Amino acid sequence: ADLRDIRDQVLRALSEDGEAAAPPGAILHGEDIAPTRFLETDWSKGGGIALQRGSTASHVAMLARSLGVPMVVGLGALAAPRTGDALLDAEHGAIIFSPSPAEVETFRQSASSFADRQGAARTFLTEPAVTKAGTAVRVQVNIAYPSDVEGIDIETCDGVGLMRTEFLFGKTLPDEETQYHAYRKVLEWAGGKPVTIRTVDAGGDKPVPGFTVEETNPFLGLRGIRLSLKRLDIFRVQIRALLRAAIHGNLRVMFPMIATPDEYSQAAALFAQEQAALVAQGVAHKLPPLGIMVEVPSVALAPEDFADIAFFSIGSNDLTQYVMAAARDNAAVAHLNSVRQPAVLRLIAAVAAFGLEKGIPVSLCGDAGGDPATIPALLEAGLRDLSVAPAQLATAKAAIAGVAV
Ligand code: PEP
Ligand code: MG
Repeated sequence: ADLRDIRDQVLRALSEDGEAAAPPGAILHGEDIAPTRFLETDWSKGGGIALQRGSTASHVAMLARSLGVPMVVGLGALAAPRTGDALLDAEHGAIIFSPSPAEVETFRQSASSFADRQGAARTFLTEPAVTKAGTAVRVQVNIAYPSDVEGIDIETCDGVGLMRTEFLFGKTLPDEETQYHAYRKVLEWAGGKPVTIRTVDAGGDKPVPGFTVEETNPFLGLRGIRLSLKRLDIFRVQIRALLRAAIHGNLRVMFPMIATPDEYSQAAALFAQEQAALVAQGVAHKLPPLGIMVEVPSVALAPEDFADIAFFSIGSNDLTQYVMAAARDNAAVAHLNSVRQPAVLRLIAAVAAFGLEKGIPVSLCGDAGGDPATIPALLEAGLRDLSVAPAQLATAKAAIAGVAV
């Protein structure tokens, strides 16, 4: 979708044929939607997205989740009018074109029940999250762009559990200063609260021009730390920016797609080398605690191989797709792609138990952490630290309050 987006922007520029902006509050319906179209649209007046294809794990889905824009994907080939009235039910994943008065009435009731539940959840937003039994649960936020923090009150969360950095790596590779300022902005916003920044996870469904390589099976190829360790010229720039930014707050750094202890050791050694270079140059910096994502089954099955790391963060989006052999961007196998599958929950519970035994903090930053239907199973698996999309903070805390653990 990112590459098609670039193609369409070039074609539009060449033909000077501007795409008409959607009226405020419109539902955009089509095969797929480009990230730039999403970013150009004013969502402050409502509106939503209904896609025949698309995926809940796409770049646009992540942006929509973070802003709370209703979005339904994988609707299949629907015969739909190009324009007209429609009801978009993003809670149950449906769209009704040219609705009858009875359908409008049913929708109104369902929308008002949803609004009531959202309103009730908002009362939880400013309070720390606790279960029915009084167990405290940390709830942090996932962000992608440094500007994401502008809409979040730091008092409503326990920090940033995941800052994805691949979206800084857009059409050009970001230099050290650009990265340093982006990381510093988030660290200063968070005050003393922890900010976990993930080194670039390019590849898979996140291609970066000039960095990622074309592969027949990108989810099983050179992505995340595998790619960073192959392109040290790019990785060292990010490491230096992180070391320099670390003095501005409570930074933790984690590596994506770790599969073996050796990958972690290599990445940690690069931090030590760049730190030594900054010492020699007299540049202010700090070495942050280094942790890893648990998203490759090899790590979840043998966490004891990683007993010397500072923390684990479970990436349930990828862990689920690899355990269930069901691609996260394929609507046809979405029924298999569930964290609530017993095999996935068993691995999560094993990592949580290992962390508890060894005193290594374990959190979860996949999308399941913000899903009220999955939160009870995650807490029962032993997790006490979740990181969710900012728009899901209130509903996640409300769901935690209903759990009996
Ligand atoms: C995950 O895999 O669960 C995760 C948080 O990382 P991403 O969605 O960026 O792959
Ligand atoms: Mg992942």
